[in-house]
Amino acid sequence: MSLPRYHRVVLKLSGEALAGENGYGIDPGVLHSIANQIKEVHELNVQIAIVVGGGNIWRGLAGSAKGIDRATADYMGMLATVMNALALQDSLEKEGVPTRVQTSIEMRQVAEPYIRRRAIRHLEKRRVVIFAAGTGNPYFSTDTTAALRAAEIEAEVILMAKNKVNGVYTADPLVYPDAERFEQLTYLDLLNKGLGVMDSTASSLCMDNHIPIIVFSILEEGNIKRAVLGEKIGTIIGGEADAKASSE
Ligand code: UDP
Repeated sequence: MSLPRYHRVVLKLSGEALAGENGYGIDPGVLHSIANQIKEVHELNVQIAIVVGGGNIWRGLAGSAKGIDRATADYMGMLATVMNALALQDSLEKEGVPTRVQTSIEMRQVAEPYIRRRAIRHLEKRRVVIFAAGTGNPYFSTDTTAALRAAEIEAEVILMAKNKVNGVYTADPLVYPDAERFEQLTYLDLLNKGLGVMDSTASSLCMDNHIPIIVFSILEEGNIKRAVLGEKIGTIIGGEADAKASSE
């Protein structure tokens, strides 16, 4: 059996990834498939923390464009991530994977509040920790949450699971079929080329804390495990790519 390359990871699941083909809401089939993929990785004894997005239900920016106060719209977005987190928890526990949800906005009847040391303890006890409600602050994204939590819990990598695309491309491959996929990129490539993988706050945080990011499609079954085993899938940002760029 292959040994995992990473032992503590942050998996970033965008809200869209949970919506599947519908593009909105939570698709039970997709949820089941994702839970199974996470279970496979859990069985490798890898510590998994998950940051869930909320874009399948509500996005702050879209809400504010419709006239809702931006901070209020963002709080609504953070609440949407909690709904996704509970759905994911339910699915994982049905597969026999022990989980804890921690929220950055206190709602003790629903989940634990985010406490860093407690989250680490859960991971050590082989519980999957799901971080919900983003950073707890408006004007941020769940990508930034993933970068922040990864730094806090000293995760070795962020696994950025996308819905439709299997990595980072020269152009949107859904619009331009001849767009090419990058195998490796540096953090500065991300920032300078405006590749739209994550916002600049999230990428700078990863760059400053040397956290590599692997971008891949979750629709291909087994991809999370492949990423954890260190197989070449999707696009890797930072890590070796950065080391190579700085030695040139
Ligand atoms: N959000 C926020 N602060 C955070 C994280 C998220 O205000 O720290 C809000 C923001 O409005 C965002 C929404 O929650 O649009 C859903 O998160 P995101 O768009 O990152 O989800 P994803 O694109 O991953 O589905």
